[in-house]
Amino acid sequence: MKPTDVDVLIIGAGPAGAVAAAQLQRGGVKLLVVEKNIFPRFVIGESLLPHTMDLLKDVGLLEAVEKCDFMKKTGAVFMRGNQVCNFDFANQSGAGWRYTYQVPRAEFDKAIADAVAARGVDFRYGHTVAAVNFSDGSAAVTLDQPDGIRRTVTARFVLDCSGYGRVLPRLLDLEEPSSYPVRESLFTHVTGDVRPPEREQGKIWICVHPAGAWIWVIPFSNGRTSVGVVAEPEFFSRYPGEPEAQLRAIVMSEPNAAARLADMQTVFPPQRIKGFACSVKKLYGPQYALAGNATEFLDPVFSSGVTLAMESGLRAAQVLTRQFKGETVDWQVDYADYVMQGVNTFRSYVDAWYDEKLPTILFAAQRNPDIMRQICSVLAGYVWDKSNPYVTQADRALGLLAKISGGRAQAA
Ligand SMILES: Cc1cc2nc3c(=O)[nH]c(=O)nc-3n(C[C@H](O)[C@H](O)[C@H](O)COP(=O)(O)OP(=O)(O)OC[C@H]3O[C@@H](n4cnc5c(N)ncnc54)[C@H](O)[C@@H]3O)c2cc1C
Repeated sequence: MKPTDVDVLIIGAGPAGAVAAAQLQRGGVKLLVVEKNIFPRFVIGESLLPHTMDLLKDVGLLEAVEKCDFMKKTGAVFMRGNQVCNFDFANQSGAGWRYTYQVPRAEFDKAIADAVAARGVDFRYGHTVAAVNFSDGSAAVTLDQPDGIRRTVTARFVLDCSGYGRVLPRLLDLEEPSSYPVRESLFTHVTGDVRPPEREQGKIWICVHPAGAWIWVIPFSNGRTSVGVVAEPEFFSRYPGEPEAQLRAIVMSEPNAAARLADMQTVFPPQRIKGFACSVKKLYGPQYALAGNATEFLDPVFSSGVTLAMESGLRAAQVLTRQFKGETVDWQVDYADYVMQGVNTFRSYVDAWYDEKLPTILFAAQRNPDIMRQICSVLAGYVWDKSNPYVTQADRALGLLAKISGGRAQAA
């Protein structure tokens, strides 16, 4: 094999790329992280799950996050009209973290990327990957640099953490259509949110809109609140006007969000993302692997994106470090199957959310506290916990529970 400029080139400095870089640096791997944007940059995906705390701690980045004074998130509240299902992460079946944070991603991503760079990892911002050629057991990566000059860097391995950029899925024809219908999201940050007191203040609200959408409300410690709507495009066509008027009309027509956001003022014009669900044919090849949103993205309803991004970034880095040490690794078993176990558990919950099983369970008049603790652990991101039947047999368990809950509702 020819000598290369670096061992690993990571595309993208978001959560997947930063966590992978932190882990690889610890393994003594020569690294380059190339990032298209200049940080801080806006990206959606602001509500973390408690399991991210384990991942940040594992790679030594928790301290950098704790210094940022982000809003403590202690749970998630699902609402439909006057029905409420209030999860508190203190009530999990497992021994997972009891809290996490609500984070403006511009600050969060910069904090963790800077902490990794401070350990000596080379981050190049404003560098866009334009092409990747694999030959002779290495990769030649073409970069568009900020000065307009193209440069090629060679690497033994490319880890694609490019998120919505989906660099290798596009270049290597790995894209696969998602099994989900096209959904759309309209979102912004607002001021004027009248928040609940104390421990309830930092919880995310997920409000079911009566006409077939859901709204997130994510409070930040800087006084701003992230507000967004998710629905199929047909829903939005019922609310004409500019995005700001549209978002306001939707929020004001859901009673729970309307009550706390009646005086909301937008901080920036609402943005729209359409068709965010995506998938890939495979997660790895001889000289590359995909992590985070460059793999599969399901849906934002359970705030799983950053957790899956960090877990996959960490896992890919661990497998790669072992490979570089000369150990035999099986990317299918050690990486792809492991990552997909978590993705597929969340898939069961996303399916159950949209086919009404989960709302039937969450808004049932009577709920079994032990089962709700197991579901709470899943919603905290512990989707690799094989001791939880709501992980290992999620489809079956949710299906049965919905039947029982639906039966009870009818009887009542
Ligand atoms: C509407 C909506 C709401 C969401 N809400 C949540 C939530 O509340 N909680 C949650 O956990 N997740 C949420 N998500 C998901 C979350 O946004 C992603 O899962 C998460 O950002 C993925 O992290 P990542 O590191 O894989 O990618 P990203 O955070 O997207 O980072 C990828 C980086 O790669 C860079 N890049 C792209 N192309 C190139 C290139 N050619 N060259 C160099 N660099 C490149 C980008 O600039 C970017 O900085 C939401 C998603 C949507 C659509």
